[in-house]
Amino acid sequence: MGTGSSGSAPRPRSRRPLPEVSVLRVGHRPGRDPRLTTHLALAARALGATRLYLNPPDEAIRERLAKVTADWGGTFSVVPSPEWRSVVRSHDGPVVHLTMYGLPLDPLLPKLRRAPRVLIVVGGAKVPADLYGLATHNVAIGHQPHSEVAALAVILDRIRGPPGPERFRGARRRVVPTARGKRVRRGGRVPP
Ligand code: SAM
Repeated sequence: MGTGSSGSAPRPRSRRPLPEVSVLRVGHRPGRDPRLTTHLALAARALGATRLYLNPPDEAIRERLAKVTADWGGTFSVVPSPEWRSVVRSHDGPVVHLTMYGLPLDPLLPKLRRAPRVLIVVGGAKVPADLYGLATHNVAIGHQPHSEVAALAVILDRIRGPPGPERFRGARRRVVPTARGKRVRRGGRVPP
């Protein structure tokens, strides 16, 4: 998907430390969209985010992701966040609100890749109007309506690139890539 300019921007350079990226999900509806928010959290974790602030909190999703992290490694966590505005106000770095009405991502990428900490905010069915003013940047991943999971995946990949295996230290399970079928290494053992 185009993100606002021709061609793709260069991948992050390996010498500079990558930004620590946190994600804030505003307007989750416990009991109504558990699957979508779970997928958002899984995508955030798999693509290199450090944590997901979840507003409003949902203990079932926090527990589900804690179990995924225990099995598949790393330190990702879901942080219950009853007050999303305080998460935005206390963030020390750029706050990027993903919205189809925003500006293209590409011109902003060099700045985001240099920042030590980036907070990415995604909305749900209804986005609070003051979020547009509180964010440092309102950014579109293309100007068509799609999904918070897709938008998050694109921006994480563009800011951080693909996560290396060190991101998932302590894993009890690892996929052994195969051309066909499914192989998973459990506790260091590869099944026949
Ligand atoms: N109706 C909502 C509104 O008031 O804008 C948006 C609903 S959309 C299904 C949910 C979220 O997906 C948005 O809040 C935004 O974070 C993300 N999203 C959807 N399309 C996007 C796009 N083209 N660029 C960036 N983010 C997008």
